[in-house]
Amino acid sequence: MVKKLIILISLLVLIISSCVPVNRHEIRLNGEIRDRYYINCYFDEVEKVLKGYQQITYYNKEEEILENIYFHLYPNAFQEKNTAPFLPDELTQAYPLGFDPGFIEVHNVDVDGRVYSWGYQDAAKNVLKISLDKPLQPGQALTIDMNYTLKFPLCHGRFGYGENTLRAANWYPVAAVFDDKGWNLDPYYPIGDPFYSDISDYHVRITLPDEYTVASTGQVRRAGKIGKGYREWMAEGKGVRDFAWIASKSYKVKKKKVKGTEIKSYFFDETGGEKALETAARAVEIFSELFGDYPYRTYSVAASDFFIGGMEYPNLVFIDKELYNKGGLFSLEYVVAHETAHQWWYGVVGNNEIAEAWLDEGLTEYSTVLYYYERYGPETGERILNSVIEKPYYSFRDSRQNNDTVILEDLKEYGSWQEYSSLVYAGGALIIDWLRKQLGDELFFRGLRKYYDTYKFQNATTGDFIEIMQDVAEKPIENEVMQRLKGDR
Ligand SMILES: [Zn+2]
Repeated sequence: MVKKLIILISLLVLIISSCVPVNRHEIRLNGEIRDRYYINCYFDEVEKVLKGYQQITYYNKEEEILENIYFHLYPNAFQEKNTAPFLPDELTQAYPLGFDPGFIEVHNVDVDGRVYSWGYQDAAKNVLKISLDKPLQPGQALTIDMNYTLKFPLCHGRFGYGENTLRAANWYPVAAVFDDKGWNLDPYYPIGDPFYSDISDYHVRITLPDEYTVASTGQVRRAGKIGKGYREWMAEGKGVRDFAWIASKSYKVKKKKVKGTEIKSYFFDETGGEKALETAARAVEIFSELFGDYPYRTYSVAASDFFIGGMEYPNLVFIDKELYNKGGLFSLEYVVAHETAHQWWYGVVGNNEIAEAWLDEGLTEYSTVLYYYERYGPETGERILNSVIEKPYYSFRDSRQNNDTVILEDLKEYGSWQEYSSLVYAGGALIIDWLRKQLGDELFFRGLRKYYDTYKFQNATTGDFIEIMQDVAEKPIENEVMQRLKGDR
């Protein structure tokens, strides 16, 4: 994500249980076990309600026996004004016409074809809990069927609708991650990108009024007409850690092929739309060269009713439409380059974005600087490094009397976007810059490529990152990196 404020330069049907075939036995794809999501949904434009049927083939990917399975119900954060994932001073921008609730209501949960009793982990219904009758053994799978109703709020955040776009982000029940620390059941915090997920495969069918154009994770195509005035869109996303989509009745689309990937720009403003396409294409070329190939066949940049600058999802990023037609196309370029870098750091190599936000944001922010170095030369790269990274970081540090400048910290510890972005983005990027200077370009880029290659389609930790960089450097760097992450230097 990149918040605007830090860019200085600046037919009720379908819900029938038509199912995909289920394989009860362990399957491995490219050496990994992945969950499979099949979603079939129908959007009622009048009510702004989506009726969804979802079947998940869920694998126990851990070495422990699982007694419960949990799903995040992120839309329920939007139920009330005081739980909506925005800071108080953002509410007017998020809800330009006043607060409007959004939510998801799950109607039933069947496990392996049997009706199940299920419940919520919390009073606010942010997490759905399924207690299994029979624990799930490592490597074994079960199928979970759900039907739900999703209400979109009139909201200019990640999830909601506005004058121009319908944004389905963090919208369906998504399995929580079970890792070394157990289940990760964090709610939707207002600061940062409070998400953490495993790589999965998705097959999604979306029916909505015929006038809409849909951009999504994976490969999306306009399929047949359904009923009067409705059309189905089908999307296939393989090896992705989330599935998002956005739709508009007035999108114009431009495409360009780069290294086997189709880059698409969905926009309203012609000049900005072209600039977004061209920036995304150059960024994909540059990052593929620096870190390793982009492993997907599509990447889409979509203009959005969106007050928060830009937001990354697998194969798809949302960009504030206001950035497209403002004089400063420079800002549009910065945001598109930043969100494109997230395709490597977050998309392919994932991490816990709640506990270790610096890991993807620091790498992404520094990658954005590298984009400028590669595209415009060292002088521009240095200028960006200075104005976007160094200055904000040091001026924030100087303003802190109590020396609380911790970079590696849980999202809920940050009190403002300024604190979060100065420390996590700028401070995180400065640690990466420090590493580059310590290792020299050859070892630094070798390290980043090794990190990308080793943790591709997995979740990595700060420790994993340090270990790889230290191996490549052949000298101890851990203490210094940890001190910097604690804000001690
Ligand atoms: Zn970001």
